Amino acid sequence: MTWEEFCQYFNTEEACADALYQFKWPNGFSCARCGHHLASTIVTRRLPLYECRHCYYQSSLTSGTIMEGSRTHLRKWFMAFFLISRTECGTNAVELSRVIGVTYKTAWLILRKIRHVISEADGRSLLSGIVRVNGSVYGRPHNPSWYHHPQEHPLLIGASMDEQGEPICIKMKLVSEEYRRERLILRSAEQNFIEQHIEPRTKDVQTVTSRWSHKRFQRLLRVSAAASKWINSTFHGIGSKHLQAYLDEFCYRLNLSLQRTPIFHHLTHLCAKSEKVTYSMLKGTVTR
Ligand SMILES: [Zn+2]
Repeated sequence: MTWEEFCQYFNTEEACADALYQFKWPNGFSCARCGHHLASTIVTRRLPLYECRHCYYQSSLTSGTIMEGSRTHLRKWFMAFFLISRTECGTNAVELSRVIGVTYKTAWLILRKIRHVISEADGRSLLSGIVRVNGSVYGRPHNPSWYHHPQEHPLLIGASMDEQGEPICIKMKLVSEEYRRERLILRSAEQNFIEQHIEPRTKDVQTVTSRWSHKRFQRLLRVSAAASKWINSTFHGIGSKHLQAYLDEFCYRLNLSLQRTPIFHHLTHLCAKSEKVTYSMLKGTVTR
């Protein structure tokens, strides 16, 4: 779908409300409290309310989604979903605020919430099958010394591979200080990555963390280089605070592309099924 097609299709608040209804209740209304399938629609507000005909519980279209409690119009949220779904580039808060006409702060918060949902989804999936893991770095790939540079962020990139050695599903995770000595990624970091991100029964796992090993998985290193390039060009230099969320976002888009799944559809569905994201939840993500 092109931007023009998107704007044509989701041209009103009602069109977005209809789409959200479909994502939220694909099999028709279901009461969040009692599970009853019939509701009366109350249209006195910007978005309709649905009142269960059995227990009279009222739910709005956005309750139980990341848009819950937001004063930003649905159409603007949908535009954000579209922009962040663009395979090659995603978006940043400056661009989003300009395109959808909200303040920078609002745009930034919308993106933070979407990234939170993406990171949570990433945490629920595990690598399996043929798994390859390689040490890499964001920030200063050409530091030739043994010492860690403050702008350098060591990470592990792991992937489920197909028989031809092509990645099917990728994860990139920063290696925290406790798991490294200067630039060296410790064995405990590999162990931690395997425990957290790889299906426990997976037999075929190989990891390489040495920077000079001839066994390095070049295919994975190219992916981490592409991620660094995207982060640099989109966010123009960032601190380590949000880096993990950007890496997760990069992997999310890439993995769906590899699996030939339409990203916008997948993301809107994910956001329609995710709980309201609170400020304290966001604080939890950034320190991870
Ligand atoms: Zn009910």
